[in-house]
Order: sequence, then structure tokens, then C-alpha cells
Amino acid sequence: MTRFEKQGSENRYNPSELEPEWQKRWEQLGLNRTPEPSAKRSENFFALSMFPYPSGNLHMGHVRNYVITDVIARQQRLKGKKVLHPMGWDAFGLPAENAANERGVDPADWTIQNIEQMRVQLKKLGLSIDWEREISTCDPSFYKWTQWLFLQFFAAGLAYQKEANVNWDPIDKTVLANEQVNSEGRSWRSGALVEKRKLKQWFLRITDFADDLLTDLDGLNGWPERVCTMQANWIGRSRGAQFSFKLEQAEKDLNEPDVNLDVFTTRPDTIYGVTYVVLAPEHPLVAKLTTKQQQESVKSFQDEVAAKSELERMAEDQDKNGVALGGTVIHPLTGKIIPVWIADYVLPDYGTGAVMGVPAHDQRDYSFAKKYNLAIKNVILKAGNAANHDPNKAFTELGILENSENFNGLEGEQAKQAIISKAEEEGFGIGKTTYRLRDWLISRQRYWGCPIPVIHCNICGVVPVPVEKLPVKLPKRGETVASIPCPTCGRDAKPETDTMDTFMCSSWYYLRYTDSENKDLPFAKQTASKWLPVDQYVGGVEHAILHLLYSRFFTKALAKKDLISFNEPFKHLLTQGMVQAITFRNPKTEKYIAPTEVLDISNPLDPSDGTLLDVYYEKMSKSKYNGVDPGVVIDKYGADTARMFILFKAPPEKDLEWDDADVEGQFRFLQRIWRLCQSAKERNSEIKLNLNNAFGELNAKEKDIRRAVHTAIKAISEDLSGEELQFNTAISELMKLCNTLTTHLEEANENVAGEAIAALLILLAPFAPHLADELWMQLGGVDSVHQQKWPIEDEKALITDTITIILQVNGKVRDNLHVAPDIDADTLKKLALESDASKKWLEGAEPKRIIVVPGKLINLVS
Ligand SMILES: [Zn+2]
Repeated sequence: MTRFEKQGSENRYNPSELEPEWQKRWEQLGLNRTPEPSAKRSENFFALSMFPYPSGNLHMGHVRNYVITDVIARQQRLKGKKVLHPMGWDAFGLPAENAANERGVDPADWTIQNIEQMRVQLKKLGLSIDWEREISTCDPSFYKWTQWLFLQFFAAGLAYQKEANVNWDPIDKTVLANEQVNSEGRSWRSGALVEKRKLKQWFLRITDFADDLLTDLDGLNGWPERVCTMQANWIGRSRGAQFSFKLEQAEKDLNEPDVNLDVFTTRPDTIYGVTYVVLAPEHPLVAKLTTKQQQESVKSFQDEVAAKSELERMAEDQDKNGVALGGTVIHPLTGKIIPVWIADYVLPDYGTGAVMGVPAHDQRDYSFAKKYNLAIKNVILKAGNAANHDPNKAFTELGILENSENFNGLEGEQAKQAIISKAEEEGFGIGKTTYRLRDWLISRQRYWGCPIPVIHCNICGVVPVPVEKLPVKLPKRGETVASIPCPTCGRDAKPETDTMDTFMCSSWYYLRYTDSENKDLPFAKQTASKWLPVDQYVGGVEHAILHLLYSRFFTKALAKKDLISFNEPFKHLLTQGMVQAITFRNPKTEKYIAPTEVLDISNPLDPSDGTLLDVYYEKMSKSKYNGVDPGVVIDKYGADTARMFILFKAPPEKDLEWDDADVEGQFRFLQRIWRLCQSAKERNSEIKLNLNNAFGELNAKEKDIRRAVHTAIKAISEDLSGEELQFNTAISELMKLCNTLTTHLEEANENVAGEAIAALLILLAPFAPHLADELWMQLGGVDSVHQQKWPIEDEKALITDTITIILQVNGKVRDNLHVAPDIDADTLKKLALESDASKKWLEGAEPKRIIVVPGKLINLVS
């Protein structure tokens, strides 16, 4: 006999028995299946978690991410929305390839096995995921479309190959995108110090969308401010001007055209302060500008710089080094001869690879000029203050122009604009905007990735694989495809062996969920527009620049090609905080000690040397011995308790500190709800589990119960809507309601009790879905609790009862006032004076005295 046949016979809360049965039941009922979307976009809701990389083991960070999304998805269903809540696997990439290589197995087998394992772990959490739409980026039925999209980009000129100085990770033996190199110049994955190499690579033209990517951040009101700021900084727009300085060539042939040296500056107002120009040592004009005498020192300086990393060259505290080329250029406004230098701090790939040296108004230029004894010319005065700035450093603020011919006296932005206009008139410069953002390097010299669908033919060059030949399947590990016929000329040609950055797959995976069975297209435009942009996206903040920026770029590129009808992929973004746990570290050895080895937490000592240990809360990780296995917690307390703890312990965006005692506390709370419902079940009069019960005249106790119920409905509904989702305070409200009902439910009639329990269970359902459904069934509820309607508060039930106060004028009873029992004296006096009775009987006179008997009477004496 199953639980569903022996209804109501249980009287002990046993999650390990009831949770698997409910999971099976929901699957049989198809409760998590995505319904046909409504034609009205606002009636559909797309709840999305960032999909996991299939490492094989679910960790607490995953649990937090997916439980948050699940609460949102479940509540939206109860509110009547058609909900899409899918899951998939970010399955390609280096971790799988490395792990498989270590074990001598095929990365495909390794990955598929991990997916099987993690799917089982995920299902134990009771997530309302539509598994029929599961996708995996390493499946040919998915990556066929990643390749199809690459070909769309290629056809539109957005994917191209070029030789460039790229980031090379010497540990993982592959190139990396700029976004994958951290601020210390290390690989985001392997931690290796990245080297620069000149290689021919594939790029996506994300820079074409730099301005849109920046401007549209303003419309992302449902995103955390800090994520938008990080993206804005990464895109790094600077407005300024590009000026051309003519090369001074003494022995120039008259027919030879002028050669110009272009520089970019954000401070066109300082152009009169230029005393030298600096190039990157790699700049193509270096050879032309180097005089015979300087050749040797220039060559040796170039070699020296080539050995340095970009990071070393850029570091703020580094000494700036350079060497004069001997050649000169002509200042476009003054006609003065300006010396040209090369320096390590100028990078070839940023701006034009050349900058104007304005030592009086740029600190780096100032240090450089001091070091090499170059001229310093002041051209900006501090506004509103005649006393000039510190002569021992650059004055870098905007101010009033001096020593600038006709522009003297102009100020700040006005000066910048006037000089740009002059340059444009005379043809030596233009106003220009530059970006820090570079094109996205997407090729990887690794096996386990989506093959790039192009062929290299000696005659035809790069030829895209025809769409009908897709997918270009990944060969078995160790196999190589020597040659294939060129699709254009039929001769033997070479397939591209590089694979795509896995961020290509994750830039569009959410689109596939909307139409996962489509055999003709990655997704139909119509279908995608019913679900997207994603209503609520939940994931880690570590993707602020990488995945979230790339996905926005993909969306804009696809919109431009008219493949989709929206411009941004994610309407609301929640970046959940980390799950941390206690760690112990020996300050002498800097080694972590496992908490199980620490005998006394109040006096934590290293068992090997007796050193007093430092105590921290840090992100759970193997190397710090502080991980908690979700499986163990679920086996002990059940998924509902794990969910409740993780939601209750901290607001979703804040870091959360694991605490076994608090887990225990949530388990006890669920037990209290269980017992409350058992006693409701055992009362003499059967309660009517219904939100729409009719009520006759209620006594004070019943009114109190209804007020508690509707207060909880109101508060929890507010906590789960709006910009800040507050699951923790919603659970506090559930606790308050449970306490009130535990004390007073017996005093209520069956209709009031029925409404109270129905509301409690429906409000609980998104958080503890198994227990809520079990109790709903035990109390004879119709269908599943997850098929009910989210309750709406009854404003009338929220009103506190009124009391009657006698109004006297000059000692005679003239009226009754109905007021709140906790009314203060001032408000009561105001009400009394405004009443018709007092106006009539005082005949416009001010009362000389007002006597108040609290809770009973007010007397106006004139
Ligand atoms: Zn060919």
C-alpha cells in the first residue's frame, strides 16, 4: 500500500519516507511540465538558474542557487502564471577534459556519467524542474546549433580570424579571452600567469556592440547595481579626440605623401601642453622614426619590453622606462618640433598605440618627463583660485586654459569641444570615443569543446561548412581527421581543429529551452518571444563580466539579424551570496585543519603542534575541509529542511554561514507544522480546507486568527515580489503564523480553521514543497497543494476591532465615536472636535477644557 492509499494514517514527520514518494507523484501528475505558453507575454514566467558544469557532485552553492529559483517558480505557478523552469548542463570545457585525462577515460563518457549522477542529486531537492527540456551543450543535437549560430556570425562578418597578441595559459595550454584573465594577470581557471603570444585566432566582434552594451545597462532596473557597474567599467568608454601629428621628414620627396602619427587622448584641452609623443615599442612607425644613432638602443629596449607581461608594463608602481627614437613630429597647432619616444607603459592594442606626453597635467607623463629631463609646459590653471597647484606634481583636474593661444580662458568641457572643433575644421583631428572592451577571442586549442565549423582550403581559404552538413561532430578522443574535401572546390582541405570557448554555448543555451525539440532551427522566433527575456535569472556574481556580458552581446547580435525580437536576455537578475562554513587555520604553517580534528571549538588548537588556530567563515571547499555534502543533510533531515535553512539563514544576496544548530532549528519548525496539522486533523468538527470559506458572525478569537492569517499572506506576498526578494523574512512570517495557530486554532470554528490551515500550507508550499503537499493531502485537500491559488489578503480581516467612546459636550452625551482601541489622546481630541455633534453644540467656540477618560469618554467643556 502506498502513502496515497493509507491517507492520514501517519503521525510522525518522516521526510526520508515521504519526500521520494511526493517526487514520484509530481512526476506522474506532470506538475512540472511546461504548459503551452499564453499568447500574452505577461502571463508567462521564465525562471532560470545558471546551469551547472557537470563536475559529478552537487555542492551547497548549487543547492542555494537552485532552491532560490525553485521558490520563485513555484510561487509564480500558484499565482497562475505559465512557468518555464528548466535545467541543463554546461558540459564542455577544460575541467572535464583534464579530469578525464587523469583517469584515462573519454571526456564524453566522464561527462555523461557525471550528468547522470548530478541529476539524481538534484531530483532529491524536490525542484519543480521540467526535465523534458533538459539540454547538454556537449550533445550533438545542441552543439549543432551552436555551430549554426557561429556560421550566422561568420556570414554577418561578426566572426573573423586574425593574428594577434593573445593570452596564452601555459598550464592549460590554450589561449584565453581577456575576460578570463584576472586583475593579477592570471588565468581565471588554472591560476597560471598568462603569457602573450602572437597567434592566428578566431574572434567575435563584440566591440561592434560596445555602445549598446553600455547604454542599455541603464534599462536593466532588475539587475544588481554592482553587476551593471562592473560591466560598465569593463566596457570602459572614454570620450576624447584623435589628433594627427605630421612626421617631420627632412629629406622628404615632394611627391611623397605626408605620414601622420595618430594619438588618442581623453584630454584634448591639454594639446598645447604636449612636449613629447610616446609610442608602444611595437608601433609600426617606430622603424621610420628611429634615427641611425638611436637604432641600437631602440632595438635593445624593444627586446627588453617584449620579455615583459602586459601586467608588468601597466603596473601603477612600476618605474616607467623609455628611449628616444631620434625622429620628431610637428605640433598641429603651434608648429613646434616634438620629440618621439617609445615606452613600456604604452600598449600596442589600446587606442592607437600612441599617446601625447603632457607632463604638466598627467602624473605618469610627469614622472616620465622628470626621469628623462623632458620639457614641462603648464596649460591649465586651477579654476576659481589664482594660487597655482603643487609644482612637484601634475595638475590633473579640469581648469582654465592658459598658454593655449586663442583658447586661453576657456574652461573644462567647453575648452575640449572648442579644440576638437578646430581640429575637425583644419583636418588634423576628430572627436572620438574609444572602449576598453576588445573583441572576444573564442578559439581554444583544446579537444573537449564545440568544433568550429570551418575548413581551411589551400585554394579557397577559410570555407564555412555548409549548414546541411552540421553538426561537425567532435572526433573520438585521440582520433584526428586528416583531410576532408573542400565544400567549394572539392580538393583536399583541413578541418579546423580548434574548438570554441565554452562561453559560446552558455551565451545562448537559455534560448534553446524555449524550443528544445526544434529540429529545423535553434529556436523559433515566435516561441522564444513568448518566454524571453528571462523573468528571473539566478546565479553567481562571478559571471558578472564573462557569461552575462557575452549573453547580452549574443542577444543583441541575434536581434540585429532578426532571429529574436528582444534586445536583452535577462529582465531580473539575482546574484546569490556564497555558502560559507567555519575554517581553522594555523597562523604559523598557514595550513587548514579539518574541523573534525579540532577538539574544543571555544579554544581551537592544532592537534599536531598545539598552536591556537585562526577561525574564519569561508566559502566551502575541499582544500579548507569545510564542505558540507548536501546529500548527507538531505538523508538526515530531508530536502525540505535543507531548503528552509538555506532560505532562512541569510537574505539571498548575502553570504550565508553554515550552522548545524540552525539546520536543526528548521527541522523542528517543520515538525511543529506537522503536529499542528495532526491536531487539526483530529478535532471533532472536520475543518474545511479552503481559502474561500464563508464566515458568519465571528467571535473575537476567530477575528484574531483571521487577522494573523491575512497579515502573513500580505507580508509573505510582499517578500516574494518587488525588487528585493526576502525569503528569510517570509519564513519568519510563517513561523509567527504557526505559533498563533498552535495556540489558538482550537478556538476557531471549522471554516476559520480551514482557511487558516489552507493558507499556511499554500504559503509554505514554495519553501517546503513535500511537507506542504503531504499535509494538504492528509487534511483532505483537493488536488495537490501546488495546484492551488496563491492566497490574497482580505483587507477587512486585517482591520483591528474598534471601540466606542462617548462624546460629551459640557457634560451632556451628544454622540458616540468608533475608534481603534489603541488610539492616542491627540488623535481622539482631533476626531471629537471635527465631529458634527461638537460643531453643533459648541456653536463654533473653542473648548476651554477637554477631559478624556481613556477607553470610555471625552468631554468638551466650553
Ligand atoms: Zn577549396
